[in-house]
Amino acid sequence: MNFLCKCGHVIRDQTDSLTYKADLLPDNGGWDNFHEPIVKGILDFARSIAADDRKGWLSRNFGPDYPRDLDDEATVSDFLSRFECALRKIYQCTECGALFIEKSKGGEFVMFSPAGEDWKGILKW
Ligand SMILES: [Zn+2]
Repeated sequence: MNFLCKCGHVIRDQTDSLTYKADLLPDNGGWDNFHEPIVKGILDFARSIAADDRKGWLSRNFGPDYPRDLDDEATVSDFLSRFECALRKIYQCTECGALFIEKSKGGEFVMFSPAGEDWKGILKW
């Protein structure tokens, strides 16, 4: 995905670990929609393995086409990715500092301009 900032800079999203991109985790609903289902899902995964029902957990959490031979780390990573992919995105123009916040998932972006000059790297980990 690429889009044009008001300053003329093209903001590109074509790789991982971008320093000018972040996920937006709203405080309202963050527990119910993100934290709690992840904790419960991973605990259920561990308990299903202990109960020799790994395949059952995979069936309950992924479709029939999901590979059954992935290791636990890849499986948990895929499980987490589903929740992360549902988060709205934020991008920052590295030229002028404008923030672009996804208004709704898959929807348009709303732009905010920084009030001051100290905006560089604000979305870095
Ligand atoms: Zn810009």
